[in-house]
Amino acid sequence: MEQIFSRIVQRDPEQKEFHQAVHEVMETVRPVLDRNPEYRQLAVLERVTEPERVIMFRVPWMDDQGQVHVNRGFRVEMNSAIGPYKGGLRFHPSVTLSIIKFLAFEQVFKNSLTTLHMGGGKGGSDFNPKGRTDSEVMRFCQSFMAELSRHIGPNTDVPAGDIGVGAREIGYLFGMYKKLRNEFTGVLTGKSLSWGGSLIRPEATGYGVVYFASEMLTYAGESIEGKTCLVSGSGNVAQYTCEKILQLGGRVVTFSDSSGYVFDEEGIDQEKLEFVKQLKNIRRGRIREYCDKYPQAVYIEADPELGYNPLWTHKADCAMPSATQNEINEQDAKNLVRSGVRLVCEGANMPSTPSAINIFLEEGVLYGPSKAANAGGVAVSGLEMAQNSMRLSWPREEVEGRLKQIMKSIHITCIDAAAEYGMDGNYMAGANIAGFVKVVNAMLDQGLV
Ligand code: NDP
Repeated sequence: MEQIFSRIVQRDPEQKEFHQAVHEVMETVRPVLDRNPEYRQLAVLERVTEPERVIMFRVPWMDDQGQVHVNRGFRVEMNSAIGPYKGGLRFHPSVTLSIIKFLAFEQVFKNSLTTLHMGGGKGGSDFNPKGRTDSEVMRFCQSFMAELSRHIGPNTDVPAGDIGVGAREIGYLFGMYKKLRNEFTGVLTGKSLSWGGSLIRPEATGYGVVYFASEMLTYAGESIEGKTCLVSGSGNVAQYTCEKILQLGGRVVTFSDSSGYVFDEEGIDQEKLEFVKQLKNIRRGRIREYCDKYPQAVYIEADPELGYNPLWTHKADCAMPSATQNEINEQDAKNLVRSGVRLVCEGANMPSTPSAINIFLEEGVLYGPSKAANAGGVAVSGLEMAQNSMRLSWPREEVEGRLKQIMKSIHITCIDAAAEYGMDGNYMAGANIAGFVKVVNAMLDQGLV
């Protein structure tokens, strides 16, 4: 296994985030390989870590002043063993091939856990939508889709949103796809309701995270009611994580963005949450403006020199990191344990570094890894695809009921897989093993392709 991992590192030495994601999975599936020696000869690890296809392309576009810009577009079609490639698009200046490959790799196992038939993929661009006008974002999306449209389709590859890609971007992308292909199909998920979207899709990732956290707490003989929670980010996942925590009787005291965070000791109630939704989704403002409206809250500017994020030092019971990868380092993990946090449930993808995860496991913190905990978003995307195929829309209660059931089933799958390999209660091992076994067996069924 060490040799396989070193070959992956040597082949693409700059892809640090991809190596991190692969290393975590390889470490935890070791007992599966020991129990199935034929996997080695069939090179399942080598096959599952090599994307089926990587597409990289130029995205030229013109700003409102007539200046031309060139960004780089990506789509990594990682694995289609259990269904069409499925996974979001991220528009953020930090996007590189490494980031997209790690996200695509994680997506394969996450999609496998949902019980639906979806392969794994991910895409995006280093384009920064922040500060751009609607017409600039539209021109960028159209140029991006001019190339991407050749590679996707409702039975081939179905992208969705992620950081920087919300309802506005999905609309522009869909419009261009429809024009180029002259067909109205469910080629993207996260669409608006009036043209094929599903109820509960905007809420799904955040709601799913809290359903998963509730399952973990129930299994440990507790509940989320009355618990104080630290939430990072203030985008789609953070907002609906907060909403479901409130509905289940918990309390949320923080929100953040890349500039800093707010701490509201009185708690962020539904009215304050509605303000944040308006601020971030409509006015596209900064989280510091929360304190202009609610002056009892404090705003702390982000300070990368500090070496830790003070957001994770506040006294609380639970933490739901919902911003970005590697936002909790070893020091943050120690601070969380010191502040009394007993559950960490990941809304963002890979928000905890490997050393932070070790601290959680050593200290007996209930740790819900992203590929299980945030799978609700892609699960409801799968339900959106099903509704599109049938050309009908299910009511809110039906979609949310199915989401809840899927999160319950993912929880049980993780518990059972971890127990089967002697790692009781280790959700990370359970998620990796269950996701891996299903995908690998499907690959083997389909021959060497
Ligand atoms: P949004 O773009 O809606 O929000 C992202 C939030 O995170 C913003 O508050 C943003 O702040 C903050 N953020 C982004 N990058 C950084 C950074 N480098 N440092 C600090 N803060 C940052 O994205 P989502 O809510 O959709 O996604 C959040 C996370 O959840 C991502 O990891 C994504 O992959 C994951 N996820 C999302 C799913 C979905 O359905 N949307 C599904 C599963 C996982 P700012 O405004 O300053 O950029």
